[in-house]
Amino acid sequence: MLQQTRVEQVVPYYKRFLDKFPSINVLASANIDDVLKMWEGMGYYRRARYLLEAAKIIAERHKSKIPNDYEILTTLPGFGPYTCGSVLSIAYNLPYPAIDGNVIRFMSRLFKIESDITRIATKRTIEKTVVNLIPTNKASEFSQALMDMGASVCKSVRPKCNICCCRKFCRAYNEMPNPEILPKKTKKKRSVHVHIAAGIVRNRNTVLISKRPENVILGGLWEFPGGKKERNESLDVACVRELKSKIGISTKIIKPFISIKHHYSHYSVTIHFFCCSYLSGRLDKSTAKWVKINELEMLAFSKVHKQVAMKIRDGGC
Ligand code: SF4
Repeated sequence: MLQQTRVEQVVPYYKRFLDKFPSINVLASANIDDVLKMWEGMGYYRRARYLLEAAKIIAERHKSKIPNDYEILTTLPGFGPYTCGSVLSIAYNLPYPAIDGNVIRFMSRLFKIESDITRIATKRTIEKTVVNLIPTNKASEFSQALMDMGASVCKSVRPKCNICCCRKFCRAYNEMPNPEILPKKTKKKRSVHVHIAAGIVRNRNTVLISKRPENVILGGLWEFPGGKKERNESLDVACVRELKSKIGISTKIIKPFISIKHHYSHYSVTIHFFCCSYLSGRLDKSTAKWVKINELEMLAFSKVHKQVAMKIRDGGC
């Protein structure tokens, strides 16, 4: 859960998740819709899918115990170097580095590492530095301390150098005009912005929803069907075309409903929702279904579509 997400945001999700899935075995026997529902709103939904897959493998092949071997851990879905290092050091007290963005920032200031942190060579330097510092038999406390230092003291903006226990030997603090200069990072290219048209097709007290394919971003979540607007195409035309091509029905636009902008890590979207009426055609039931409006709350949607679902529940469209 903590991959790319701050602790404060994760805590309520974590508690709810553990209430619902209190052990690896319970999680392993859950279905993906229930897991996604518990994850709803936290983003990066692939993590939920990986977590479920990993729990199944751990239950089946490792007697429901998370392996304490780096090579085996890396074979589990969703277990990259950061997660493997965190599990081995924090849970098993083994001397592996757990390097997240907070640790990178803290280390680059403490040791005045001035090369670009997006470069592999810099990441390796930081990793080696951390490994050399891990105290014998205290890997667990050490990993947590590094993360906490970065998150609560050596913050990216206005680091709290005045209360920092490392101030005496921090090279950035002692040798640079402003430690905030570090870490150095090449600026990301300007991200792409995409316009999507989506239809809210109602039939009395039901509304049409479709499920995103599993192998795409937000895979497995429900949404109001639609897709990308093509160049020189108007949004309402795009909406009708997408509904026809994705779920096989012809529709007519009644009125625009709402437009919502959302940022992902590498791009942003504006989703333009339209109230539509059903005209003809057979629904592709493998990807779409009619659902009662008062049941929308029970299904897992992405943040934007959830917002729209709640507006529909409250009488919109
Ligand atoms: S002295 Fe300042 S820059 Fe250096 S580690 Fe502490 S908080 Fe970070």
